[in-house]
Amino acid sequence: MPRNRVQHQKGLSDDAFERLYPDEEACRMAWFTWRWPEGFKCPRCATTEYCEIRDRQLLQCRRCRYQTSLIAGTILQGTKLPMRVWFRAMHLLAQGKKGLSNIELGRRLGISTNAAWRVQHKLMQAMIERDRRYKLGAAGPRIEIDDAYIGGERTGEGAGRGRRGHTPFIIAVETSADGRPLHARLQVVRGFQTGETKRLCMGVQAGTTVVSDGGQWFRCIAEQPGIRHERHITGSDRAAARHPAFRWANTMLANIKNSLLATHRVVDAKHLPRYLGAFAWRFNRRFVLKTIHERLAIAATATPPMPYRLLKLAEARWLHARTAFRAI
Ligand SMILES: [Zn+2]
Repeated sequence: MPRNRVQHQKGLSDDAFERLYPDEEACRMAWFTWRWPEGFKCPRCATTEYCEIRDRQLLQCRRCRYQTSLIAGTILQGTKLPMRVWFRAMHLLAQGKKGLSNIELGRRLGISTNAAWRVQHKLMQAMIERDRRYKLGAAGPRIEIDDAYIGGERTGEGAGRGRRGHTPFIIAVETSADGRPLHARLQVVRGFQTGETKRLCMGVQAGTTVVSDGGQWFRCIAEQPGIRHERHITGSDRAAARHPAFRWANTMLANIKNSLLATHRVVDAKHLPRYLGAFAWRFNRRFVLKTIHERLAIAATATPPMPYRLLKLAEARWLHARTAFRAI
């Protein structure tokens, strides 16, 4: 990434963070505002009047008497951890350019490694679901895409998924007309197949130009409605890596590999979509470091609960369950 205001931009310091959210009450108030920016609304009857049942930390609708809580219906549902621990986790995970391992996160939060794993994966889930709502090309006219492999740390995983132990994914970087990178999407794929390219194109705004190399699985781009295809036949992988048309996709790939290796000793292939999603989410908010924890919190308030039994599954399996959930 260019050495510009991103690297010199200051985020929110730990001190400033502690001053903003000194105790449980401050965190609860902030969460309330993020969840209901226009004021409380009963999930059952949409009435705006409520009373608080303090000792049980519940909100009760004045009309239908339905009881809910600040975290019910959100990704935090079911947690026994204080709100303040979640806030600290959001601060740490959103700010850190490279992310944190769950061991380090647990140590910083004073909770077990297993509890830290759940906190981290739930917040990464909020990141990935938030970014999937964004249509690539909404801000810039051009998207460069490239295929990549990552991993191999756990050999034997992912039989039939390309090279053994390597997980294939597509890097898509939206750029401005003058070639600056704006937004990135990292999509883990079953293999480099036409179907996966089409899936990526479904998340692309009409009128966008998609730039790719000569790969067979990219040929279908030209047939996608509203999308222009700019194809560069580059020859070999190494030639493609030097080709200026894929400058940002290549820079991004190098950064991802460095970041994941530096932070996580082992990345379980089945959870790679979430690690990549978190990386892209942070990249996409690199200009707003001061408020990035707020953005993560707002995403968390809008993300439905994800029980551990789903959280531990591979993406292909939770994706179906999540789609069914949202359809309700
Ligand atoms: Zn009600």
